[in-house]
Amino acid sequence: MSDDVEAAIERAAALVKKAQRVVVLTGAGISTESGIPDFRGPQGVWTKNPEAEKLSTLQHYMGDPEVRKRSWKKRASSRALAAEPNAGHRALLGLERQGKLHTLITQNIDGLHQRAGTSGERVVEIHGTMREVVCMACGERAPMERALERVRAGEEDPPCRSCGGILKSATISFGQSLVMEDLARSERAAQECDLMLAVGTSLAVYPIAAVVPLAARAGASIIIVNGEPTEMDPLAAVVVRGRIGESLPRIVGA
Ligand code: NAD
Repeated sequence: MSDDVEAAIERAAALVKKAQRVVVLTGAGISTESGIPDFRGPQGVWTKNPEAEKLSTLQHYMGDPEVRKRSWKKRASSRALAAEPNAGHRALLGLERQGKLHTLITQNIDGLHQRAGTSGERVVEIHGTMREVVCMACGERAPMERALERVRAGEEDPPCRSCGGILKSATISFGQSLVMEDLARSERAAQECDLMLAVGTSLAVYPIAAVVPLAARAGASIIIVNGEPTEMDPLAAVVVRGRIGESLPRIVGA
């Protein structure tokens, strides 16, 4: 680690030490060290294949059975459900134990914060979860694993067992609205915290990225921990580059 990164970690750690109500906003970058690729990082899914972004839209998924079949095939062969939390996820447990974690807003759909031990009631999964499926007609939810068993047994586009509707992972696709209560809770948290820690996110996905300027306007200090620059770096009291798994445990004093 360079001297600059070392110095930034120390300054960030000092801010965490003095903070009382910390809101953490995480993105795909905290899970790359668990083997789940991000979208926009140097090895990101979209950086390598810009076409993949189109397949993530709700309109394509709902309107084209071939897109759904490809999605199910990809999910059935994905190792993301078996991924384990890493040092970055575990570091955030320290904040909760110190009684400082107000809310952990995650853009990730992988459930790894809860698997690492963060209490579910502290976590807002603003973009949903891939661990469940939801029927787009009747709203019924079921474990993803059960739907994947059906795919592995030969169903290419398994329909809802209750109403025959289209099943989709319980994630927020592009073109799909966020859950308004989750967004409102995130915005409230941003206004109540005295420190916001944005980790592993390009801060390019709205509306959730806007919680960072919201917290800044409400008087909170901002720390950004990310391998690459983000547009919101000018709002931050401290920007820490480098690998999250190495820097985050030191920043939060885990
Ligand atoms: P993003 O892909 O836009 O940005 C990730 C950022 O993390 C990049 O700037 C990258 O440089 C940085 N990064 C990656 N690995 C890092 C590491 N080890 N150390 C330091 N920095 C690292 O991610 P985003 O801002 O979360 O937006 C992508 C959207 O895609 C989100 O809405 C999310 O729902 C979804 N997504 C989720 C997952 C997941 O659940 N794990 C994975 C891919 C995408």
